[in-house]
Amino acid sequence: MTTLFPVNRFKELRTPFYYYNISVLKKTIELLKEETDKSGFKVHYAIKANANPVLLKIISSYGLGADCVSWNEIERALSCGFRSDGIVFAGVGKSDYEIENALKADILCFNAESLQELIVINEIAGKLGKTARIALRINPNIEAHTHKHITTAIDDSKFGIIIPELDEALNLISGAKHLQLIGIHFHIGSQITRMQVFKNLCARINELTEWFSSRNVSLKIINVGGGLGIDYHEPDILPAFREYFSVFREMLRLYPGQELHFEPGRAIVGQCGTLISKVLFTKNGGNTKFAVIDAGMTDLIRPALYQAYHKIENLTSNGEKTHYDVVGPICESSDTFGKYVELPETKRGDIIAIRSAGAYGESMASRYNLRDLPPAVFSED
Ligand SMILES: *Cc1c(COP(=O)(O)O)cnc(C)c1O
Repeated sequence: MTTLFPVNRFKELRTPFYYYNISVLKKTIELLKEETDKSGFKVHYAIKANANPVLLKIISSYGLGADCVSWNEIERALSCGFRSDGIVFAGVGKSDYEIENALKADILCFNAESLQELIVINEIAGKLGKTARIALRINPNIEAHTHKHITTAIDDSKFGIIIPELDEALNLISGAKHLQLIGIHFHIGSQITRMQVFKNLCARINELTEWFSSRNVSLKIINVGGGLGIDYHEPDILPAFREYFSVFREMLRLYPGQELHFEPGRAIVGQCGTLISKVLFTKNGGNTKFAVIDAGMTDLIRPALYQAYHKIENLTSNGEKTHYDVVGPICESSDTFGKYVELPETKRGDIIAIRSAGAYGESMASRYNLRDLPPAVFSED
């Protein structure tokens, strides 16, 4: 599969914009479902990776659930066809109004991240005369071997309840009239490409489910979160779903009646999106040649925020290869998409594609420098 871009169409449009290849999105979801359906695994797409309504409607049409981290995401998910009984709500800092609205919407469950959150959800549910379904988000203390800003499950990470507090969490829930414990939840980080990390997670979960079982607590749902990475160097390659799901199929011991849930975000939408930009200027800066493009860190912040790599292509030149620092127009030195990037001879007006930008691109865009938010263009519209 090699993505062909409608370059002539791009030439007519104002840049920058996100271009989404709908057939890549559909192929990705179909590949995912091939693996999950046969095992009865449940999938909640992590809305924060990309909340574009056009994409969400396609994703929900395949029957996936949604993983949300704010009330606004829940509202967006509901308006784009996700069923409330497939929505889970995570986050270390849920506001009271968000908890209240989520209870009224009757979502599947709250992934609760602290003892105090349990107390507050119980109080709010009591006032509304409702019972809140709870999955405890546990910090399993697993090193994810990814960038430190997207590691979420080592000691001293802000996410989840630490294992030594689980006893107290169980006591609290058994004394709370408006809480029903239905499962446990984990999410250990993002852009994880080493399957060994997920194997370590499975081993830890097996210990924990045994521990819960020894306390006579039955858990209907084991939710292992998201985190599967994509190959940013090979934008035309789909995620390693087969390898990933077989780790859990082979290693995780489920008790009778237990369901296994997943929350992939990046893996579903990453490869279908490309940030399309035009070259404004080229210039020399000492030993460096710069290509200044009209997209910036306000459109795609991952390189500036996580030193993330994105493959950069010039769609309109086949000149001789040379090297450029590809930079944006924002008044920050970190507004750089790539250093010493090999590109064909590049000139003003050339169209530049920044690949694998479907996840955490549009959804993290900002209006810094009062720039416009990047619009979205789709392959089938
Ligand atoms: C961000 C997040 C996800 C999705 O992570 P990906 O790396 O995009 O798969 C899943 N679950 C939770 C709780 C998250 O915060």
